[in-house]
Amino acid sequence: MTTDLIQLPVAVVTGGARGIGLAIARWFLAHGHRVALLDIDQETLRRTDAALADAGRVLSIHCDVSQPDQVDAAVNQVAGHFGRIDALVNNAGVAVFKPIAQVSFEDWRHVMSTNLDGAFLCTQACAPVMLRTGGGAVVNIASISGLRASTLRVAYGTSKGALIHLTKQQAVELGNVGIRVNCVAPGPVDTEMAKLVHSVAIRSDYYDAIPLNRYGTTEEIAEVVGFLCSPAAGYVNGQVLAADGGFDAAGVGLP
Ligand code: NAD
Repeated sequence: MTTDLIQLPVAVVTGGARGIGLAIARWFLAHGHRVALLDIDQETLRRTDAALADAGRVLSIHCDVSQPDQVDAAVNQVAGHFGRIDALVNNAGVAVFKPIAQVSFEDWRHVMSTNLDGAFLCTQACAPVMLRTGGGAVVNIASISGLRASTLRVAYGTSKGALIHLTKQQAVELGNVGIRVNCVAPGPVDTEMAKLVHSVAIRSDYYDAIPLNRYGTTEEIAEVVGFLCSPAAGYVNGQVLAADGGFDAAGVGLP
């Protein structure tokens, strides 16, 4: 790696192969970072890696963030390849939208292990590497479903509510050593996940409930994440920033 590249900060983005995670990775690349993408979907990761035209600034690693051994191996690989980690975005997530009676224990564990265990494991693995260079920033991607309860989201909403509290726990403990931890709670964003779980009825409910009357874009979420990782947010720690078109402020419930 050339001397110029070695001086660039490093961001780790989980679930970075597509959707919001890919937009976050693009934001970091556009703002002078090197980026490690960790994703369970090897084929999409391969295509994304090829599309990013990175000039040595992207490292793509096949990793299931719910598996401690895979997370440790991936973070070791990032540290070995890039030599440092400055930012971690715990973005990898899955959604199951079903009535409580239809949620199997496997559904529940799948959602919890990806959305919650993944953020716990990745932060625990990355923090010691961040500390070698004096600290860093972590952003957990929650959801408005973690701020408000509604039907169909017993597993998803609970995992995101817990992720918001995990953010505060991490911020209090890691803030002491120079790692800021914050959370972004996006409203609905048109991605493959939204296509999977947002029925026509859910889409219509969101349009009615959101003061801006539209879905957000992946780029709009990435801008907020980028801000929280930047020196501009140097005194922001333990916060939940809802990027939701005003949904939370309006206080309108979803059926
Ligand atoms: P997406 O399904 O398009 O992308 C998620 C990515 O995470 C995929 O590349 C997937 O392969 C990866 N992933 C899933 N399980 C993984 C695992 N165990 N290990 C590693 N990678 C894994 O979804 P998205 O809409 O881009 O969502 C990104 C994040 O934003 C998620 O945490 C999601 O809950 C959150 N979010 C999304 C919306 C929305 O409306 N799209 C709203 C609020 C919050």
